[in-house]
Amino acid sequence: MEGDQRAPTTLHTRAEEEPRSGDDDRVGRLAPSPTGPLHLGHAYAFLHAWWWTRSRGGRMRLRWDDGDRTRCRPEFEDQALADLEWLGLTWDGPVVRQSDRGDAHEAALKELSELGVLFGCRCTRKDLAAQAAPHEGEEMPYPGTCSALGLPGPALRMRVPASPVEVEEHCARLEDGASVTHIDLSAEGGPFLVASRTGIPSYQLVTAVDDAAMGVTDVARGRDLLTSLGRQQLIRQRLGLASVAAAHLPLVVDASGRRLAKRSHDLALSSLREAGVTPGAILAWVLTDGPNPDCDFVGTSVSEAHQQVLVNYRLPTGGSRVAPSIDALLGRS
Ligand SMILES: [Zn+2]
Repeated sequence: MEGDQRAPTTLHTRAEEEPRSGDDDRVGRLAPSPTGPLHLGHAYAFLHAWWWTRSRGGRMRLRWDDGDRTRCRPEFEDQALADLEWLGLTWDGPVVRQSDRGDAHEAALKELSELGVLFGCRCTRKDLAAQAAPHEGEEMPYPGTCSALGLPGPALRMRVPASPVEVEEHCARLEDGASVTHIDLSAEGGPFLVASRTGIPSYQLVTAVDDAAMGVTDVARGRDLLTSLGRQQLIRQRLGLASVAAAHLPLVVDASGRRLAKRSHDLALSSLREAGVTPGAILAWVLTDGPNPDCDFVGTSVSEAHQQVLVNYRLPTGGSRVAPSIDALLGRS
């Protein structure tokens, strides 16, 4: 986004961390990444995140996860803003832009290095792929090749403890109704990247640091990202930052059971809007199958619909939700 004339967003540093005072002071966040159109899977996660925090009187923040400058486009940001407004999703306080926070990310990397919990790694993806066959888009399992070599970087990995990392979990039945999820990072890929081969801080690092700086207490997202949250939790622990509570939501999948991706253009929120789908129809679909009563929101404004949902809101259960067709959302099937 070179030449982008938007006003810079407020920089937060750890010294400016917002005060937190307990369970009645919840802070959630919406963190879209402007690298493609938002789709129904994003709407599902964003609505639950918003309801979960708002139903307890909490505040919502907005952050652009725009760290990957090569893939971010201003038009996707404009489209995402239109999508959020359409769905009636509001936020509080200044908008934070991850790309403005490079100094805080560098400071966190330096602090972790000084703590001795990182090691330099010179393995390429090809090296790692020769030893494992990860799923598409997932981080490669790391066998520990460079952990005792004393390399300086620029690629840096974080050592993981032998015992699982604990995360407070609010989506029931993720682990037999347990309220704490145990994530064994040593079994889930092992030491993970906190800085890339070009020295760029990883998604895990910047997310952990930025959530803390924004005072975020609640993180709701798809349950495919459980390991990722465990990594962020470990980074927070090492840096002495407050933990977040998690809600790992059912995953929205297509008819063949695959997670919706940004290439699923027919389920892009902008396409649904253009096809005549109402925000009420999206809200109603997100709520069906869940513990909330059936709603249709026909003739209801989106803000009134949200008020109705918030009265009895509870987080959903289950492993996945199959995305509906446009016809179903239009009431034609
Ligand atoms: Zn290595």
